[in-house]
Amino acid sequence: MRPFGYVAAADPASAAALVRDRPEAAFLAGGTNLVDLMKLGVTAPGLLVDVTGVLPGRIERAAAGGLRIGAGVRNSDLAADPRVRAEFPMLAQAVLAGASGQLRNMATVGGNLLQRTRCLYFQDVTKPCNKRVPGSGCPARAGDHRNLAILGGSAHCVATHPSDMAVALAALDAVVHVQGAAGPRVITLGQLYRRPGDRPDLETTLERGDLITAVEVPALGYAARSAYRKVRDRASYAFAVTSVAAALDVAGGVVRSARIAVGAVAPLPWRARTAERILAGRPATAEWFGRAADAELAAADPLPDNAFKVPLVRNVVVRMLSELAGIPAGDQAPAGDRT
Ligand SMILES: Cc1cc2nc3c(=O)[nH]c(=O)nc-3n(C[C@H](O)[C@H](O)[C@H](O)COP(=O)(O)OP(=O)(O)OC[C@H]3O[C@@H](n4cnc5c(N)ncnc54)[C@H](O)[C@@H]3O)c2cc1C
Ligand code: SF4
Repeated sequence: MRPFGYVAAADPASAAALVRDRPEAAFLAGGTNLVDLMKLGVTAPGLLVDVTGVLPGRIERAAAGGLRIGAGVRNSDLAADPRVRAEFPMLAQAVLAGASGQLRNMATVGGNLLQRTRCLYFQDVTKPCNKRVPGSGCPARAGDHRNLAILGGSAHCVATHPSDMAVALAALDAVVHVQGAAGPRVITLGQLYRRPGDRPDLETTLERGDLITAVEVPALGYAARSAYRKVRDRASYAFAVTSVAAALDVAGGVVRSARIAVGAVAPLPWRARTAERILAGRPATAEWFGRAADAELAAADPLPDNAFKVPLVRNVVVRMLSELAGIPAGDQAPAGDRT
């Protein structure tokens, strides 16, 4: 590993200024992703600016009624918070589905959002990779792509975003508070991530030195009836092959509103807006849940070894929405009143 310096930041503004002004500097939060990548030689910052002492580490009630989660909140504390568990169960379940207890004790909310892809070629410096070395090529397309993207990728990169937490936050319309050069600003989670296009090395819209200080989850009454389902190769301690975060508002057997996001299928947490639009005002039946999933997946462009994800996502979406509506996944009878 390349030798590096370490400094504990004094406050968020000076941390942001330090990274902005020093091209070799990087923020260090829990270090559970960054330090691994340094050991692998994927990244080699000359200075680590430790922000764990200056990032907000509390979860507070937001003025508009949701929750404001400090970027320094550890994943374990987020999942254990009684307000998160009661008001946004999909978020608590998503965080608990990730990594291991020890890792969740270290990992922060900000670092989780900005963790890098687990594409094998990205992590192997002996291989080409457009994301790691722009213009070097993408061996995954003709190589190992079983767990890579079926939506939102490009000819230059089909990596997936690995975070479970970000999938739930996408479904919940979370916004991200950023300390930047021009002062604080707020962006939606959708605005945070970029699609790869011909620049897969640019993963977010953050500028150099932009520090995530908090994530805000707006109030959503029916999110109390929500869930996160993760399909993976092992029962624990594995990244998702596919995951779904969903919340459903049903009255009189009709869907009033739905929130659906899919993970491990795209370079960013994939908000299923097409499916949500189709479901609004439709009968809460497995048939309609399937139609909505099919419409969302019409844009899928899988590679030979990950085409299985298309029916897999469909099945998980139908099953989850059916469970949330209180109907069997194969039963198309209308549900009762459920909110
Ligand atoms: C074995 C293993 C299994 C895992 N399994 C899962 C899993 O199943 N699901 C899952 O979601 N995750 C999983 N993870 C990933 C883990 O959740 C992340 O490593 C962790 O969330 C990153 O948080 P951190 O605070 O340690 O970030 P760091 O490693 O400290 O930082 C990550 C990146 O974010 C930047 N950064 C950190 N904080 C900020 C900030 N506030 N503002 C701007 N930039 C910032 C850093 O500079 C760095 O580039 C796993 C990790 C390991 C090692
Ligand atoms: S899919 Fe993306 S991260 Fe993986 S090898 Fe191709 S360019 Fe690199």
